[in-house]
Amino acid sequence: MSAPAFPTGSILGYPRIGPRRELKKAVESFWAGKTTVDELEATAAELRASTRERLVALGLKADDSSIPEAFSFYDQVLDAAVTVGAIPTRFADLVAEDGTIDLAGYFTIARGAGQNTPAEMTKWFDSNYHYLVPEIGPETDFHLASDRLLRQVAEATTSGYTTRPVIVGPVTFLLLSKPSEGAPEGYQPLDRLDDLLPVYAELLAGLAAVGADWVQLDEPGLVSESIDVPRERVLAATKQAYELLSSVPIRPQIFVAAPYNSLGDALPVLDATAIEAIQLDLVRGSLPVGFSTTKTLVGGVIDGHNIWRGDLAGAFSTLESLLELSPSVAVTTSTSLFHVPHDVQDEPLLADQLKNWLAFADQKVGQVATLASGLIDGKAAIQGELDAASAALDDRHSAVGVRDGAVRERAAALTESDFTRGDYAARLAAQDAALGLPFLPTTTIGSFPQTGDIRKSRAAFAAGRISEDEYREAMRAEIRSVVELQEKIGIDVIVHGEPERNDMVQYFAENLDGFAVTQNGWVQSYGSRCTRPSILWGDVSRPSPITVEWSTYTQTLTPKPVKGMLTGPVTILAWSFVRDDQPLRDTANQVALALRDEIVDLEAAGIGIIQVDEPALRELLPLKKKDQADYLDWSVGSFRLATSGVGEATQIHTHLCYSEFGVVIDAIDKLDADVTSIEAARSKMEVVPDIQSSGFGRGIGPGVYDIHSPRVPSVDEVTQLIELALGSIPERQIWVNPDCGLKTRGYDETVESLTNVITATRAVREAH
Ligand code: GLN
Ligand code: ZN
Repeated sequence: MSAPAFPTGSILGYPRIGPRRELKKAVESFWAGKTTVDELEATAAELRASTRERLVALGLKADDSSIPEAFSFYDQVLDAAVTVGAIPTRFADLVAEDGTIDLAGYFTIARGAGQNTPAEMTKWFDSNYHYLVPEIGPETDFHLASDRLLRQVAEATTSGYTTRPVIVGPVTFLLLSKPSEGAPEGYQPLDRLDDLLPVYAELLAGLAAVGADWVQLDEPGLVSESIDVPRERVLAATKQAYELLSSVPIRPQIFVAAPYNSLGDALPVLDATAIEAIQLDLVRGSLPVGFSTTKTLVGGVIDGHNIWRGDLAGAFSTLESLLELSPSVAVTTSTSLFHVPHDVQDEPLLADQLKNWLAFADQKVGQVATLASGLIDGKAAIQGELDAASAALDDRHSAVGVRDGAVRERAAALTESDFTRGDYAARLAAQDAALGLPFLPTTTIGSFPQTGDIRKSRAAFAAGRISEDEYREAMRAEIRSVVELQEKIGIDVIVHGEPERNDMVQYFAENLDGFAVTQNGWVQSYGSRCTRPSILWGDVSRPSPITVEWSTYTQTLTPKPVKGMLTGPVTILAWSFVRDDQPLRDTANQVALALRDEIVDLEAAGIGIIQVDEPALRELLPLKKKDQADYLDWSVGSFRLATSGVGEATQIHTHLCYSEFGVVIDAIDKLDADVTSIEAARSKMEVVPDIQSSGFGRGIGPGVYDIHSPRVPSVDEVTQLIELALGSIPERQIWVNPDCGLKTRGYDETVESLTNVITATRAVREAH
C-alpha cells in the first residue's frame, strides 16, 4: 500500500484558546488552585475534540491528516522544549525520576517559582505572539521527556480522526534557543544538533506507532534573516536534520512548514533530503524562481496573519503557478491560524458590510476547502466562490470611509520639518529646568492593576447599567487611589494608571475614526493572555480629544509631574488587523497625525511629560534584510511625526518591551525620544551595554522589575540591576522603572515590588 498523499486542503494550525477563551479560563483556574489537573486535562481534551469536529464541519476531512494536532497549554516552543527534555537546570527538580515532567512542572517553567525566574519570553517572528526561549547548554540532557503529543494523536485516533501532529522543528528550536547561563563564551545552542536529532527521531517513530500518517515540523527559523547564526550553518543544520529524520525507518511522512516568509536558499536544501512535502508561505513570501521538484508543494496562499477575506481568485492562480513547479500541489494557510480570531459570524455588532470583507479562522478554513475543491475538480467548480470574494473586495475599495479627502490632503502636505524636534541638548536643559527631577528618577510604565471593580464598572457602562457620569466618577476614584499609592511609595513621575483602557490599542481604536472593534475576536498573545485586535479598515482621524481629560484630572491631584500616556502609531498598527490596500507607511502616518493632535492638546493642557508607547516596534520588523530599511524608515518616521508637534520643554518618553534590541538599536536612537524605557529585568540587563555602545545619549530606563511573573523582586535584586545599569551607562541618563505596565498584576505584589524598587533606588542614590 502506498503512503497516503498529503491532504489537498489543510491548515497549519488553529486558535487554541477556544471561541470563548475556554482554555484561558481553565488554565487560570488551575493556577488559582480552584480546579484539579484532571479537570484541566478534561477541559483541554474537550476543546481539542470540539476543534476537530468544527474543522470537519468547515470542510476539512477527518481521516486524511488535514487537521493539525497543534494544541498547546501555554506555548508551542515550551511544548517542544519539554518534549525533548530541554529543562533549565534551575528547574531540575521538576523532572521526575523517569525523566518526565508533568503539567504543573511545565507551567512552572513558564511562570517561575520562588527565586527561580521563568524562561525568558520573546516575540515569535514578526507577530504579536510571544514564546518562551529555551535555554540550551552543554549540560542539557536531551531525551523524550513528555509523551503528550503522542497521547493527543492517540486521543484523536480513538475518536475516529487521523490528525497531523505539529511540533517546532529541530533547527528552528535550536535557533530560537539561547545559551544557558553557564554555557561557555561563544557557545551556540545549534552546537547540540547532533544530540537533539535522535530525540526527534524517537518522537517520529513514536508518532508512527500511534497512527500518524504525516507529521508537521514547523521551521520558520529558516526564513528569518534576523537570527544570529551564519546562514551556511543554518543550511548545514537543515541538511543534517532532515537527512537524518527522513532516514528514520518507520516514521510518518514529513511535512516541513516554513511560515512567515520565503525559504530562499533553504528550499533547495530541504528539497535535496528525503522529506515528502514542503509548505511555502506565498502571502509574505513569493514563488521560488527557477525551482522545480517532485515533492508535494503546499501553497500557503490564505493569509494566516490577517483577517481580510482577500483575493481568493488571486490565491487560486498562485496555486496554478505552483503547479508549474511540482506535479503535486496542495493548499494551506500562510501561517497557523492562531494569529486570528475564531469566527466572523460570532460578531453580532459588526456591520454586515464590514463582515463581508472579513475572514477569521473559520472562514479561512472554508477558503482553504474551496481552493482544495478547485485543485481537485477544476476552477470552474469554485468560480461562484471566487466571484463572491472578488465582489466583496470591489465593494470594500469603493466603500464610504475607506478614503477620506481631508485625511489624505493633510498627509500629502507633510514636509521634513513635521518629522523633527529641536536639538537634544537644548531640550534637555529646558526639561531639567521645567521638571526638576532627582538623580535616578523613578516612574512606572503606565498601567496599574486592572482590578475586578474596574472591569465591572467598564462592563456596566458598556451595558448601559451606569451613566457616563457614574462611570467617570468610578474611574476618577481609581485614579485618586493610584496617585495616592504612588505618592506614598515615593515615585517621582506619576501615572494615572490607565483604568479607563480595556486595552492599549483598542481604547484608541474606539476613539478614532477608521477602526472597528470586535466582541469575541481574541487572539493569544502569550500563555493564557489574549488580546482583541481592532480592525483598521478606513482612513484614520481623531474626532475629538481622547486622553486629555484623564491626564489633566490626574495633574490636579498631585504637585509631581504627571506623565500623559498614549500608544504609538507603529504599535497601533501592529496590534490591529490593518487594511492591506495601501502601504503601511501611509496608514501609519494617518494614525500619527491623529496622535500628534492629541499630544499637542496634552501639552496645551499643562502635561509636561508624554509617553508614547511603541512596544511593537521590533515586532513588525520584516524578517528579510532587504525589507528592513524601508520599514525602519516609515516606522520611526511615524513616531517622530506623532511626537514632533511639542516644544522643547515637553519631555517625550517612549516604552519598548521585548528583549531583542540588536537590529533596532539605531532605530531606537532615531525615534529621538527624550527618555526610553525598555524591558531588561529578565535578561539581567543584557541589552544595556549594547545600547550604550551604540552611542545612545538620551534618557534610558532599563526595567528593574519583571512584571510578567507574580514574583516580587527583592531589594537586593533590584539594587544589583540598577548597579549593573550604572556600570555601563552614564548616570544622568538612567531612569528606574519596571519592565512594563502593571495591568496584569495583583495589587499586593505590585505594592511590594514597587516599594522594593524605591527602597533600592534610594539606597543606590545614597551610595553614589
Ligand atoms: N503603557 C502601557 C501599560 O503600562 C504599556 C504596555 C506595553 O508596553 N505593552 O500598560
Ligand atoms: Zn511594555
